[in-house]
Amino acid sequence: MITVVGSINMDLVVGTERFPKQGETVLGNLHTTVPGGKGANQAVAASRLGGKVAIIGAVGTDPFGDELAANLENEGIDVSGVKRVEGPSGIANILLSEGDNRIIVVPGANHGLTPEDIGNCEQVIGSSNLIVLQLEIPIPSVLRTLEIAHRNRVPVILNPAPADGFSDEFLQYEPILTPNESEAAMMFGENWERALEAHPNRLIVTLGQNGARYYDGERHVRVPGIRAEAVDTTGAGDTFNGALAVALAEEMPMEDAIRFANAAASLSVEQFGAQGGMPGRRKTTERMK
Ligand code: ATP
Repeated sequence: MITVVGSINMDLVVGTERFPKQGETVLGNLHTTVPGGKGANQAVAASRLGGKVAIIGAVGTDPFGDELAANLENEGIDVSGVKRVEGPSGIANILLSEGDNRIIVVPGANHGLTPEDIGNCEQVIGSSNLIVLQLEIPIPSVLRTLEIAHRNRVPVILNPAPADGFSDEFLQYEPILTPNESEAAMMFGENWERALEAHPNRLIVTLGQNGARYYDGERHVRVPGIRAEAVDTTGAGDTFNGALAVALAEEMPMEDAIRFANAAASLSVEQFGAQGGMPGRRKTTERMK
């Protein structure tokens, strides 16, 4: 089983011709609410690709909380580790314009996922095949998860986003890190390429349409991206992480696992919304051919 410990949000998506300037009001041309949050997205990606997935997280007591939990359940994800926290669910305010996005995340209930809650899930975490983590929940809860997983010898994929939550303290637990290039620069400085050799098979840097790279202990490997007709790249990174989790849980070698993740992520950018474009297994395998 793959256990995702992470955020569950409602994405409030607004599209406009151009971003408003400070103090300005513009008319938008699109508004939808869609389930999101890096934890939930990565769980959905893994489940659609055939992984057996459980999620540990928190939603609020507002109507979004019901919708978010129901959505995960409909995706075949075990939600018994989803806690209800008095107050609003987490939301992400996503402005789309000019082929770009601007995002404000308000954590809400996600901040109520405490280290004690994680401790109460020790049995689930310790008996998982793989743990998937991001940094949209309280950092002490991230650390507690890393500690429990490490003690039980359960491998962890830590997607260090948002990267300002990253701490060198995480490294002692030897997670597999999956930053994009700007996150890698925030974590290791502008010369982040040097860090690859210090973390063989454990630092996978995603490169957008160019795929991903890592160091395998002997050589630098770049696994090329797969050409796609991108319409919305929101959730590409989440699809990559969910797919990587499924592949590594199936004990695929790292390079094959990244090829699989690139294929799934390239499909995800061809449709609107983070979860909207997440592919199933058959489509992903076909794209790898
Ligand atoms: P996002 O924040 O947009 O979800 P990210 O910034 O975390 O993504 P990226 O490195 O941009 O991460 O993309 C993650 C993966 O998604 C890449 O490694 C690649 O496999 C795939 N990908 C992203 N953009 C494209 C694209 N335009 N065409 C094909 N594949 C893409």
